[in-house]
Amino acid sequence: MSKAGDFVKGAGQIAGAMGVTLKHLTKKPLTVEYPDEPAAVFPRYRGRHMLRRYDAAPGAELGLERCIGCCLCEAACPTGAILVEAAENDPADPHSPGERYAKTYEVNLLRCVFCGDCEEACPTEAVVLTQAFPVPEQDRRSFILVKDQLLEPPESNIVIRPEQ
Ligand code: SF4
Ligand code: SF4
Repeated sequence: MSKAGDFVKGAGQIAGAMGVTLKHLTKKPLTVEYPDEPAAVFPRYRGRHMLRRYDAAPGAELGLERCIGCCLCEAACPTGAILVEAAENDPADPHSPGERYAKTYEVNLLRCVFCGDCEEACPTEAVVLTQAFPVPEQDRRSFILVKDQLLEPPESNIVIRPEQ
């Protein structure tokens, strides 16, 4: 091919590439600036875990913990993401209605595959997967959630999108 032919072919390819770029400049981006912008999740999305409590008794500030430290969630987890260490309840000041409670409860979000098996295995519906996104962090250790964090309802900037 002549030099003029090469030039025309190259110019056509550049124009085509610029056309693709310009077309995408006017489109709405698929990504969002989470957590500053809300992330859209489906109604059945499984996100960060939470440990639930029973309703508080009249006059009490907090309800008893639902978790009875049975370790079934830990046994059901396919990735070893949960650590439970149980202890005996003090009958005068119990943490949970059972004989035992979870003295330690940790979830490693870097191991978790959000399958929901822990939720399925729990006999007291204590551990649940919420629709909250894990908060972005710089430090790997921040992805290990401890019991006090899990007992608090998580905050997350999400919107529920319609089921398709
Ligand atoms: S959601 Fe699945 S992987 Fe994650 S902690 Fe529960 S059982 Fe383990
Ligand atoms: S969260 Fe449920 S399954 Fe896990 S230790 Fe507590 S009671 Fe048992």
